[in-house]
Parts: sequence; structure tokens; C-alpha cells
Amino acid sequence: MIIPIRCFSCGKPLAHLWQDYLSHIKAGKTPKKAMDELGVERYCCRSVFLGNADLADIIGRFRKG
Ligand SMILES: [Zn+2]
Repeated sequence: MIIPIRCFSCGKPLAHLWQDYLSHIKAGKTPKKAMDELGVERYCCRSVFLGNADLADIIGRFRKG
């Protein structure tokens, strides 16, 4: 789905980092390196990135009308 705006556990805002994270991954970096560079340090926040399935584009095809 869409990345949660904030980390569920600690409340750190994360959604603004998602596109940067994806571009790091596309550039061939490991998730660890990408999250280190974005300043996502706590493992609760890291789990939000690692556990998120990016379905926003797929779901967007099923809009009304
Ligand atoms: Zn967190």
C-alpha cells in the first residue's frame, strides 16, 4: 500500500523519504545502505520501509469513474 506517513512505533515522519529510498534501491544500493543514508536508524522505522509493498500505482488503476 502507501507508505505510512509516520513510523507506527516512534512517530518519526517517514513518507517524505520513500521516493528517495526507491531511487537509492533502483541505483543498486542495498536497503541497509539506503536507510543509513536517509537517516533512518531505529529498527522500528526500518521495518516500515522493509515491510512496505509499493502498490500505490496498481491501486490507482481501480479508481472510480
Ligand atoms: Zn520508528
